[in-house]
Amino acid sequence: MAHEGDEFMKAFACGDVVPGCAASWTATSDDDLLVLVGAHAHAAHGIEEVTPELVDSVTRHIVALS
Ligand SMILES: [Zn+2]
Repeated sequence: MAHEGDEFMKAFACGDVVPGCAASWTATSDDDLLVLVGAHAHAAHGIEEVTPELVDSVTRHIVALS
């Protein structure tokens, strides 16, 4: 049964994409995580634009916490 919803927590560790970065987040959806990661990428890594490639590498490293 397809299960869509926000009851799973998602987690992302920046260090999975940017070696050495200790930042990590949890949120209830990929979109929320991407907002947090995008703000961090800009503030901490000088990334001005969240490109589709960046979104792709982030989403591939998002883990679902059950
Ligand atoms: Zn980072």
